[in-house]
Order: sequence, then C-alpha cells, then structure tokens
Amino acid sequence: MTDSADLQSVLDRAADGGRITPEEALELYRSAPLHALGSAADAVRRRRYAGTENIATYIIERNINYTNVCVTACRFCAFYAPPKDTAKGWTRDLDDILRRCAETVELGGTQIMFQGGHHPDYGVEYYEEHFSAIKKAFPQLVIHSLGASEVEHMARISGVTPEEAIRRIHAAGLDSFAGAGAELLPARPRKAIAPLKESGERWLEIMETAHGMGVESTSTMLMGTGETNAERIEHLRMIRDVQDRTGGFRAFIPYTYQPENNHLKGQTQATLFEYLRMIAIARLFLDNVAHIQGSWLTTGKEVGQLSLHYGADDLGSIMLEENVVSSAGAKHRSNRMEIIELIRAAGRVPAQRATTYEHLTVHDDPANDPVDDNVVSHLSSTAIDGGTAHPELKLIDAG
Ligand code: SF4
Repeated sequence: MTDSADLQSVLDRAADGGRITPEEALELYRSAPLHALGSAADAVRRRRYAGTENIATYIIERNINYTNVCVTACRFCAFYAPPKDTAKGWTRDLDDILRRCAETVELGGTQIMFQGGHHPDYGVEYYEEHFSAIKKAFPQLVIHSLGASEVEHMARISGVTPEEAIRRIHAAGLDSFAGAGAELLPARPRKAIAPLKESGERWLEIMETAHGMGVESTSTMLMGTGETNAERIEHLRMIRDVQDRTGGFRAFIPYTYQPENNHLKGQTQATLFEYLRMIAIARLFLDNVAHIQGSWLTTGKEVGQLSLHYGADDLGSIMLEENVVSSAGAKHRSNRMEIIELIRAAGRVPAQRATTYEHLTVHDDPANDPVDDNVVSHLSSTAIDGGTAHPELKLIDAG
C-alpha cells in the first residue's frame, strides 16, 4: 500500500500534467481523497483549455433507434429483442427515420446517433442505403453513430472485412463513430456481461483501423456491472495505448449501468462517488484524450454539474430521443434552457458545440439565452410494454 506522502506526490505529478502508470492510477482511484482527486483533475482541465477554461459544452442530438432486434443478447441490455420474439421486436422504415431527422434539424440539432441491435439481416448495404439517404436529405446533419461491434457484425453479414465495411459506410455518409459497444474492454467483465460480443482487443483493433482511415470516434465505458477497480483502470489503459498510436478518440464518456429490465437484475451498480472518481481519474490518466464527458443522463443533473469540477469539460447531449438506457431505468430528462442553467450554476459559461467540439454558440449573456422549450430530451421506452413514452414520439407537428 502506498503511503499518503507517495499518494500526494503522484497526485501532484498528475496535476502538473505528468503521465501516471496504470498502477499509480489504480492507487489514486482507490485511495486519494475525493476532493484532492477532483482538484488535480480540474487543474489538468484548466491547463488544457487555458483561455476557454470557463466554458462547458453541450450538444443537441437525437438517437435514432432503427431496430431493437439483436442476436447479441448482452446481459445488461433492456432494449433488445431476440429475432424469434416477433411480438417484441420492431424495425423503423426509412421514411420514419427521415422524419426523425427532419425534426432534429427543425429543433436545432446538429447530430444523429444511429443506434440499434445487431439485426441478423442488416449488413453493410443496409447502412449504406440509410446513411446516403439521410445525407442526401439533410447534408447538415452529422452522423456520429455505431461502433466497432456494429462494424464487426455488418462485415460478417456482408462477407467483407471490417476495413471494407468502414470504407463503405464512411463513403455513404458516416462522419464518426460513437464508440458504442465498448462496455468493459477487459476479458473477464466483458464475457460476464456481453458474452457474444467481440473481445475488447478486437473492439480496439477495429477502432484503430477506423482512426487510421481518418474516421475518428469517441470512447465509452459502462460502469457498475460487477467489474473491479483494477478492471476499470485496465479499460482506461487499453484506450490510452491505442490513443498513443492513433489520436483518434475525441472523448471519453463513462456512464453507469441502469438496473431495470435486464438479465443482471441490478445486482450491482456504481455509486455516484465512484462515478466522480472515474471522471477525475480519466482526466488524469487519459492525458492524450481531449474531452471528458459527464453523463447526467445516467447519474443525474447534480452529478453532471459536479463532474464539471472533477475534470469534465462537456455535459454531452440534450437527447431529443433516447430509448436504450431509458429502457433500463434512466429517468433523468432535461431541456436546453435547463442545461444552460445547470452549467451556469456550476460556475461555467455554457456553449453549444458541434460533434467535433467547436463552439457553435457561447451563452455568455443570459439575456440572449434561447427560449425554445421544444428542445427537450425525450426518454422513452419503446422496448418495454407500458413504457413511459409514446412509441411514435412525435416531438413537433410533422404537418
Ligand atoms: S447492447 Fe446492443 S448489442 Fe448488446 S443486446 Fe443490446 S442492442 Fe444488442
């Protein structure tokens, strides 16, 4: 066990921008006082964003779930339906998807996250057709979607390499990968929660291939399904090693497991303090990843605000539509005016950002704040009988 003087010296080195080892990160994650950890991470964030360090960003986007039919049956997932469950499974047609895109543009959204199950019939051609149709109708929308798991699946269905699949869907309109499917990258926890998914090494290999082809991504981490602290740090190490080679991960986004309606039955969950410690340790350890996002959607708005003092520079999105984590119990909703106020109340200047993190609108004068109360996150639960939202989720009058 490291003594407190050693711990402080590691923390000081990290706060000064020095690289820390996985062993040191684990020691800090386990044992550093919470406020000291947050303060060191905040120092790193302020230095990285010197000149704009008072700004915290958000984005307006829509998750578009094209199907819940999935052959992969992850144990933490409350969203999917196995192919044989025709009563529960659904797919959206292209017209429906385009209508959702139109609403996103109408409400000032800049990005869509195309997200769905691993449908047994959806190969590369499906994504080519849909991405090219979306780009043709809405060239201004950024398609920030999918991840290595979908690439692995669609490539297998179409009998091509992942590299070929990436080349084709990028050519059809995919701008960047959302990094879905990372879950936990180390083998033991990954096998426990997603036994049919590709290995963590394979997930990273496909992301590395994408980065090498000029398709950047974000990276994610699902916390709280029974993984150890050491496995959480190992997940970070795996991402940092790839990032050293590619520089293609724009952001790291940890979020917490939601316990309802899935096979894990909520046996374990991450505490909010564990979450804040992860935000801070990610900022300190991932010295090569620019953006750290606080997930208010899964942890709550107050924790989102706190994350801005623990190293996060971004609060993610006002999701005009979300069906996946809300199916598993995430209940937090917000709207654009509230997110702006949350950021301001946390002592930061809010700014709407683009997918690539440029500031689109800096809300530096409350008198000029947007007042459009249609820009609201809708959390529905299309996967659950009696879910809380209208399955068609009409946000604005399509007529
Ligand atoms: S998390 Fe994704 S891949 Fe896993 S079961 Fe759910 S929809 Fe399928």
